[in-house]
Amino acid sequence: MIYLDHSATTAVDQRVVDAMSPYWTQMYGNPSSIYGLGRRAAAALEDARCRVARVLNCQPAEIVFTGCGTESDNLALRGAVLGAAPQGRRHIIITAIEHHAVLHTARELAEHFDCDVTILPVDRQGLVDPAAIAGALRPDTALVSVMYANNEVGTIQPIAEIGAIVRQQGALFHTDAVQAGGHLGLDVQALNVDLLALSAHKFHGPKGVGMLYVRRGARLLPTQTGGSQERGRRSGTENVPYIVGLAHALELAQADRGAESARLLALRERLWAGLAARIPDIELTGHPTRRLAGHLSLIVRGAEAQSLLIALDLAGVAASSGSACASGAPTPSHVLTAMGYDPMDALGALRLTLGRENTEADVDFVIERLPKIVERIRGNQ
Ligand code: PLP
Repeated sequence: MIYLDHSATTAVDQRVVDAMSPYWTQMYGNPSSIYGLGRRAAAALEDARCRVARVLNCQPAEIVFTGCGTESDNLALRGAVLGAAPQGRRHIIITAIEHHAVLHTARELAEHFDCDVTILPVDRQGLVDPAAIAGALRPDTALVSVMYANNEVGTIQPIAEIGAIVRQQGALFHTDAVQAGGHLGLDVQALNVDLLALSAHKFHGPKGVGMLYVRRGARLLPTQTGGSQERGRRSGTENVPYIVGLAHALELAQADRGAESARLLALRERLWAGLAARIPDIELTGHPTRRLAGHLSLIVRGAEAQSLLIALDLAGVAASSGSACASGAPTPSHVLTAMGYDPMDALGALRLTLGRENTEADVDFVIERLPKIVERIRGNQ
């Protein structure tokens, strides 16, 4: 199988599995326990926190481990809005292309917590205009949330520039960096962010563990209360093996980020050039240069994504589309429609995301197979 869906998830690195392994059956103590077994688990937890903080250029106390990227986004949005409510700040700003972890949370805050949500548009390439953020900020804005890199089209937003604008007004600035985690710089000082969400399974760590950077002094109301773990910001016994795995995977991914990005970029360019030369009427979606190195997203006009994905699967290629398929009825992606694409065209969205184990031979196989698949599907429709 050729795996071209690294934006969906990644294989856990064997070195990460090895780093996690002592914490299942040997050092299984509860980090809150007083005796040696517990203290050893607590030491592993704090070591992981320090290692993550080093990558993010922040204090260990500013790292909150969570159960996934979705939970981190929820904590950022709900926590900030509920935390700012006593000061009368009930306005938040997001973009139209955010992941549902942000979009649906914002919608819920509007419906049930009297929160006023401004949803900013993006251009045809998926970029938000920092001037539009400046124009939308209000004295009662509690939070601005703009994703670092988009999961469907790979476009990278000017986070540092937006952060500088938001800071002047005194609102908190959150970025969903889930897709960026293994590929882009995560220095929270350089990025001018107050909150930043990551998820381990996007960078060869385990599924079901994430983290939220929370700048010191940021007022967040916890969304999960109980035993006051994670300095009261996320109660619940910490998942030590997974947290160790997250820290290890993050360090590994960030250590060879430069070389790996250059390799992935060359593969992506080869793939796009090969497909563009052989398939008529296809279009690259997202920004041509401000995009994740291994991320290729396209629209194949006149061919439904679901049919393409099934045919690719039969040919041994795992890929995905931008559109979710609920109860058998494909719906166009909210990201592509927000970028101005016709909903019918958006149904032909294909996402091929390259990663660590992909080679030139994989790319050449897809360049050889996909044009034939498209021709056949277009002929049948
Ligand atoms: N945000 C973005 C941009 C994502 O791509 C994803 C997952 O695809 C998430 C959030 C959710 O992360 P998790 O799967 O860890 O809940």
